[in-house]
Amino acid sequence: MRGYSSLRRRLTALIAGGGIVTSIVAAAGFCWMDLNIFWERTDAQVGAIAKIVSDQAGGALARGDRKAANETLLWLGADDWVRDAVLFDRQGARFAQFQRTAGDSLGNEPPDGLRRDRNVLILTRPVRVGGERLGTLAVAARIPFGLLARRYLGGAALIAILSLVVAALGAKTIQSQVSGPILAMAGTAERIEATHRFSDRVAVTSSDELGVLAASFNSMLAEIERRDEELANYRRGLEERVAERNRVNAELLFAKQKAESATRLKSEFLANMSHEIRTPMNGVMGMLSLLLDKCKDSEQREQLSIAQGAGQSLVTLLNDILDLSKIEAGKMTIEAIDFDLRKTVQESLGAFAIAAREKNLRLDSIVAPDCPAWVRGDPLRLRQILTNLVGNAVKFTSQGSLQVIVTPGARGRVKFEVRDSGIGIHASKLTSIFEAFTQADGSTTRQYGGTGLGLAITRKLVNLLGGRLSAQSAPGAGSCFFFELPLEERAAPPAGTAQTATVPDARRWPALRILVAEDNIVNQKVVCSMIRHEGWTAVLAGNGREAYERFLAESFDVVLMDVQMPEVDGLQATTLIRQEELRRSGGGRPTRIPIFALTAHASHAQHEQCLAEGMDAVITKPVSLPALRKALSPVIESLFSAA
Ligand code: ADP
Repeated sequence: MRGYSSLRRRLTALIAGGGIVTSIVAAAGFCWMDLNIFWERTDAQVGAIAKIVSDQAGGALARGDRKAANETLLWLGADDWVRDAVLFDRQGARFAQFQRTAGDSLGNEPPDGLRRDRNVLILTRPVRVGGERLGTLAVAARIPFGLLARRYLGGAALIAILSLVVAALGAKTIQSQVSGPILAMAGTAERIEATHRFSDRVAVTSSDELGVLAASFNSMLAEIERRDEELANYRRGLEERVAERNRVNAELLFAKQKAESATRLKSEFLANMSHEIRTPMNGVMGMLSLLLDKCKDSEQREQLSIAQGAGQSLVTLLNDILDLSKIEAGKMTIEAIDFDLRKTVQESLGAFAIAAREKNLRLDSIVAPDCPAWVRGDPLRLRQILTNLVGNAVKFTSQGSLQVIVTPGARGRVKFEVRDSGIGIHASKLTSIFEAFTQADGSTTRQYGGTGLGLAITRKLVNLLGGRLSAQSAPGAGSCFFFELPLEERAAPPAGTAQTATVPDARRWPALRILVAEDNIVNQKVVCSMIRHEGWTAVLAGNGREAYERFLAESFDVVLMDVQMPEVDGLQATTLIRQEELRRSGGGRPTRIPIFALTAHASHAQHEQCLAEGMDAVITKPVSLPALRKALSPVIESLFSAA
């Protein structure tokens, strides 16, 4: 048992040590008492003999009979302890003497009484006759120290042995009564420490304090065991709950991933679908635009205008769905280019000038003078955001005014506010209107139309640009939509000569031969119809490779090049054409045919890429007749002036 034996050893040592000390003290006391008794007894014994001898010797001394006196002293020799005896006369001279061995003899007459000289006891007493002192008897007795020592040592050893036996018995009893229970408790504690099982108990063997201690120890163990059990139950419960929660979490995560993937798929599907629908819609719109241009009958023109308006609404809706899906699928790209802040705001409002005038509304834009003139950001998306907000403001306001206020915000940000004095929005709807397909009021669609997509797209766009769209409004008190965007101030670019294309009268233009590279049949028909409508010639190529081959084989004035085409796309075909032109120039200045990109992706980056590949300008799909004329006018001008 670790360490506990020391208690047993200490107890044994204490009890045995106590026994030994006690026995030594007892033996010493015993010796001292025995020695005293011995002295007293020797004194009495020698005194009694000396009295008899002095009484007998008194007569001999009185008579002066030395012989009788010597014989009387001989009696003393009967006692083995008597070494020698001397009878002194009145003058202190030796009158008679007894000597057991020669040499051992008393000297001069000692004083009366008993005295000890080393291991010799000397008894001196007066010898009287008839009350008169006639002399002195001195007896010297040898003390048997060896015998005494043996006797005392034997006695002491016996006492010590007995004490040790008693001490050993006592230690055993004490150990069984005192240290036994303590050691048992210690052993139990050690076992519990090793096994961590609190079911062990100590035997309660008495009702004294040790018994109470053992019982308390046991109840303490029982309490710990109970708490252990409680803890274990609690832990089991917790583990079960954690396992359950983990399982639910895993299920939730799985469900979330599934939902996210479903949303992404839905968004991708919607994006694809709206793109696919947009292509034939472009055809419809293009044809309507052609028909409107040709038609002279006013009733038919009105019908065509209605169809064109409805088509335009559909295109707007498709664009909204496409945008929302793109944002949700994480495919909306944001550009960072330098743009003129005031011009962009003005242009965004300009689109609503007519609508506002028709409703007799004041439409103002206030750009604070301390706002930067040129900033870096995405002007296309900013325009889209402002267009949505101003469009709503116009739609939901019947009288009063609309304002777009632009002020500098904190840390390189610019704050935009779109205020109106319209119908306002109830506080309870101020959050839900930002959700897709949600309107503030069920009657809104009936009265004002709309899909509930505009604000959802706008908020997501604002978020993508690093801002947060909020609204303040109350029914009848107008609305204010506001957001801040990080728009870093930039230096204005060096002033260039902005070309405003004037559209010359097409009938007077030279007959153009135009190579149209377009894979989509509807688009082919729309563009070709427009070209023919203008009296020009269109030559079709189904992809970039065909376009290049046509370019090699024939001569054209202009190329309209779709960007996305199978086999060889518009960008690759342009590169090939430019290389061919370089080769033909034989090292001189090449004659460049104007190449116009046709693309539905109107982002700045795509424009840049088209120009970098050697294209001259970009025409955004859906292509309308006025847009085509406007785009081609510089080319025509140059051809016209060259002719
Ligand atoms: P839509 O205008 O196509 O219904 P929006 O997402 O643009 O969809 O707007 C959602 C709803 O928010 C609107 O139907 C309208 O109820 C409310 N709303 C938006 N702008 C305004 C505004 N300026 N004034 C009043 N209500 C507005």
